Amino acid sequence: MSLHTQVSSDFDPFSYDALVVGSGYAGSVVARRLADELNYHVAILEMRPHIAGNAYDEYDEAGVLIHVYGPHIYHTFNERVDAFIRRFSDISDYQHRVLADVYGTLMPVPFNHASLKLAFGEDRGEELFQKLVDTFGRDQKVPNLKLRESEDKDLQEVADYVYKNVFLYYTQKQWGKKPDEIDPAITGRVPIFTGDDDRYFPQAPFQGMPTNGYTALFEAMLDHPAIDVFLNTDARRYISVKDGEVLVENKPYSGEVIYTGPLDELFDCDLGPLPYRSLDMKFETLSMTQFQPVGTVNYTTTEDFTRITEFKNMTGQVLDDVTTIMREYPLEYTRGGATDPYYPILEPENIDLYNQYKARVEGISNFHPAGRLPEYRYYDMDAVVASALELSDSLIAAHS
Ligand code: FAD
Ligand code: UDP
Repeated sequence: MSLHTQVSSDFDPFSYDALVVGSGYAGSVVARRLADELNYHVAILEMRPHIAGNAYDEYDEAGVLIHVYGPHIYHTFNERVDAFIRRFSDISDYQHRVLADVYGTLMPVPFNHASLKLAFGEDRGEELFQKLVDTFGRDQKVPNLKLRESEDKDLQEVADYVYKNVFLYYTQKQWGKKPDEIDPAITGRVPIFTGDDDRYFPQAPFQGMPTNGYTALFEAMLDHPAIDVFLNTDARRYISVKDGEVLVENKPYSGEVIYTGPLDELFDCDLGPLPYRSLDMKFETLSMTQFQPVGTVNYTTTEDFTRITEFKNMTGQVLDDVTTIMREYPLEYTRGGATDPYYPILEPENIDLYNQYKARVEGISNFHPAGRLPEYRYYDMDAVVASALELSDSLIAAHS
């Protein structure tokens, strides 16, 4: 890779076979595969001063490796994604565990066998666990909203407890809405688990942390002689879409364009901005070796922030008498302000608005929206990699 802090005066977009907007997973995976398999000369235009998108990590002033855009834990069920990622980094055997602070008692989330005993006491907890297992089977994931529909009094008791103590206040902080007012798929990400696996992503066969961090993983992925990365470069300076055609410097462009930024911004938000929730992340370095027992503690009944992450607990970095933690304070996203668009708000009117923007790029054979922003999706990293692998498969097939 050749990495440039900005485009030079002789930058010629027409000298590339493909232009990629954004250097997160979506852009970097496609760039690497086009370079590897089609010998394409690829330019990545990245508006931030660094690569790796929201997965970017760096060492803070205290020497602690932190995740600048929020805690990122790699996990997947997808073998192809895992094999692709491991080409560029070893993955540690870190297994993410999260505890909910319920009025001072720490309980595993997703709520599982151990959590039931902590919440209801040894005997009653065991009884309720058996009821869950008899109803849903062992080692199953049951969305709490589904459990709430049960007619059974015991199951309702569990559902009510989890609703009130795990989901209600946290979700109100995170989304400004109650759990039953948001897309059920969102709270369904954290189901009740009818077993003993106390990991945040129960049963996921591949999980861990890139051993030298995410930025190093991206450096390796982009380390290819045919890939040029230009930082601090807003691609909209060069690329536009008008009347169903991609223009580069206002001229027709026949190469491939992979666009991983927001679709509304490509059109100056002329139909209105797509709404997002954002986060104010407050980092704090403390003079102690360890602050909390696990990577993340969710504050589900108290506090204004949703969760605290302690990075050393996730990365495995060993440093005495110093640690950095981060609190997440949810807030609305305002375009052009200091916040970033983190979570799409998946409500019908927003999805309609998104579809109107999408209609403007559909059918343009050399313009490919890819990733969490242009697809307006709540995507985990592995899902973005899977989708970028598929997109590159189709481009490779079309040009081979
Ligand atoms: P991004 O990483 O956002 O990359 C898009 C890039 O495009 C950015 O670098 C942006 O600067 C650039 N760009 C946009 N517009 C332009 C433009 N006009 N010109 C030039 N560049 C442009 N996933 C997990 O699997 N595990 C986790 O633990 C996890 N934790 C998360 C925690 C938080 C707080 C959040 C918000 C997300 C988390 N995710 C997690 C999801 C993960 O961040 C995303 O799935 C992933 O980063 C998406 O990659 P992407 O390439 O689609 O987008
Ligand atoms: N959630 C909750 N309490 C928790 C954990 C999650 O209410 O202890 C809800 C909340 O609405 C959150 C959603 O479940 O937005 C998804 O949680 P996840 O941890 O997957 O969110 P992310 O890590 O993507 O922010």
